[in-house]
Amino acid sequence: MIITITVNPSVDRLYSVNKFQPGKLNRVETIKKMVGGKGINAARVASILGTLTYASGFLGGENGEFVLHSARREQFVPDFIQVNGETRNCYTIIEKNGNKTEINETGFLITPKNMYVLRSRLHALLNTTDVSSISINGSLATGMPTDSYVDLIKFIHAIDSKIKIILDTSGNSLKDVVSSSQFPDFIKPNEHELAEILDKPVTTDPLTLMKNINNSDLKKIPNIFVSLGENGGFVKHYSQFYTVKIPKIHAVNTEGSGDATVGGILNALDRHSNFIEIMKSAMAAGTANAMETKTGYIHRQNFQNIKNQIQINEILATV
Ligand code: ATP
Repeated sequence: MIITITVNPSVDRLYSVNKFQPGKLNRVETIKKMVGGKGINAARVASILGTLTYASGFLGGENGEFVLHSARREQFVPDFIQVNGETRNCYTIIEKNGNKTEINETGFLITPKNMYVLRSRLHALLNTTDVSSISINGSLATGMPTDSYVDLIKFIHAIDSKIKIILDTSGNSLKDVVSSSQFPDFIKPNEHELAEILDKPVTTDPLTLMKNINNSDLKKIPNIFVSLGENGGFVKHYSQFYTVKIPKIHAVNTEGSGDATVGGILNALDRHSNFIEIMKSAMAAGTANAMETKTGYIHRQNFQNIKNQIQINEILATV
């Protein structure tokens, strides 16, 4: 069994307009309302792939009810903690020409007491079930110090050091983890998030990525999956480095592909797969998500077809 943790999920609304005109009356052509949250997307993908999955984190207010109601139609088990305040709304206004305007609320305030309840719930789950891996996904909620994920990782490791932890976040919360002694087993930055953490220009060149990682604090993180959109991925596994080539697909909506990648890692870890299989499962899940209009969703058949075509090459150069 696996657990995903999303401390700041959202209810996402997608408004389609012909042309967005700030300061004017804009008429919406279509509205799509859906559950947002990186850990929820990862949970959906892992559960579609057959893994018993608990989706944890915080929910509040009517939007929280909406998330729970939607989760009843899903294959994962919703295991959220109710807090005061409202789960945030995130709005995307999408124009005919593809331009996007995003308006994101900050959401509820998370207190130390809320974090205590989350840790207690995790403690109870870890003591009563067989959990192979836990992912911590997305941005921190208001009120949470930037080192909150450091504490969470330390807490999980103290209960069971064998549980694999995957961290998918960015900015200061990732920086704090990377500079601490409590690091996760896996991180999954895209090339932009990696460049930010390394304080280097954005690159997809494998040798430069390898050199940049080896010369930074990231070197101590055992597994780094750098997702490179349609260019597949670049992977660090201890002292080994790989490029992962994905087959050509017809991409429909790439949103949530990174979350699906995490879902693929979780699924493979739960199956006790070898590292080659973990890389294939991760990249196949991300790629299969890009074929769907729904965010954070895959079809198993697409996943399997893509997985069979993935090419992995070890980088043998020494830098
Ligand atoms: P998000 O934040 O939207 O979840 P991300 O930026 O973290 O995404 P990406 O690098 O965009 O992650 O994508 C993750 C994986 O999804 C890629 O490694 C690749 O396998 C697949 N993918 C993404 N975009 C495409 C695309 N246009 N065509 C094919 N596969 C794609």
